[in-house]
Amino acid sequence: MNVLIVEDDAVSRKLIEMLIKPLVKKYDLAKDGLIALDFFNKSIDEENRYDLVLLDIMLPKMDGQTLLQEFRKKEKTKGICGKNSCKIVMVSALGDAGNIMEAFKNQCDGYLTKPYNKKQLIEELKKLELIS
Ligand SMILES: [Mg+2]
Repeated sequence: MNVLIVEDDAVSRKLIEMLIKPLVKKYDLAKDGLIALDFFNKSIDEENRYDLVLLDIMLPKMDGQTLLQEFRKKEKTKGICGKNSCKIVMVSALGDAGNIMEAFKNQCDGYLTKPYNKKQLIEELKKLELIS
């Protein structure tokens, strides 16, 4: 599994890395929205696509909700949709209905509210059939 982690906070990033490392082959880290967009676009252009993006919402330069829309737009330009599209899970301290609804409207696949634990992350990945 090829993963992109988008997280600006150093402590949250360490935690998510620690949880994801044993589960995946390779992961990239982006500390702001523009780096994340660059990683994602490149992964599509170079056909080395991510299976999963773990996407924070409050980020410098471009927020996670905007990024989510940009990622789906980019996939659309290449005709990637439905089952073939990347699984995107929002990981945010913002757990209000407005943000959650917006994220699903923008076609995220899951939503984890911080703080979360290993079990919740694993459950989410199982639900998305990324791990068994
Ligand atoms: Mg953040």
